Amino acid sequence: MILIMFGAPGVGKGSQARFLSEALQIPHISTGDLFRENVANRTELGKLVKIHMDNGSLVPDEMTIGLIMDRIRQADCKQGFILDGFPRTISQVEHLEKSLKAEMRAIDTVVNITLDDAKIIDRVTGRRICPSCNSVYHLAYHKPYSVGRCNNCTTDLVQRVDDTESTVLRRLQVYYAQTEPVLSYLRDRYAVVDVVSEDDINDTTRKIYSSLDLAVHGASNKDARYMRLPSGCA
Ligand code: ADP
Ligand code: ZN
Repeated sequence: MILIMFGAPGVGKGSQARFLSEALQIPHISTGDLFRENVANRTELGKLVKIHMDNGSLVPDEMTIGLIMDRIRQADCKQGFILDGFPRTISQVEHLEKSLKAEMRAIDTVVNITLDDAKIIDRVTGRRICPSCNSVYHLAYHKPYSVGRCNNCTTDLVQRVDDTESTVLRRLQVYYAQTEPVLSYLRDRYAVVDVVSEDDINDTTRKIYSSLDLAVHGASNKDARYMRLPSGCA
């Protein structure tokens, strides 16, 4: 299954993509995580993308498209994959379609997660991430078990440099100007499931699962494998 997680910054698409990746046993490919790893490891690519990320602009297509096209051609993507943060421009979606078509594959479903701008700003400015395993937390809504430490790997949590209020406003502007047109493009061609992001992360997961089940399997629900909720999300 080839899934695209779509939505403005801070709607929770990364967290939901991680749950789905575990449930469906297919890789979660996040352009933001890939870029941040490159920045942290001071690679050539990392040096080039940092300035764009820090000020909330998109990384230029020529640095983004090749990276993702190489990633989805790897062996672990044969059974499918989940894209998070890609495509964000019309050129990106066109390249993706072309590359999939060459392998007789296509996008199956787009999960579009929505949230009010005011809530987005609140979520993003309170967000803390694990620089080691990329888990995402929130100071008020999704606290780690032990203050400032990742539940998975106990690494100290950090705030992303682009998670300040002014940069989030810029990222939202960029989203509406450059990325939202991609959603209309996708709606004309693929099944799009719209899900409003809930305050409780597990509520959002449940909604995504039930709409995906309908979108992918119809009412008959033949393949229950896709419906197994992640542990802790009964
Ligand atoms: P969010 O969805 O919260 O904005 P991401 O981690 O997806 O966060 O992206 C962080 C930054 O990485 C973006 O602001 C942008 O600079 C860059 N980026 C991520 N994905 C793309 C993409 N597909 N095209 C261009 N730039 C991207
Ligand atoms: Zn961690």
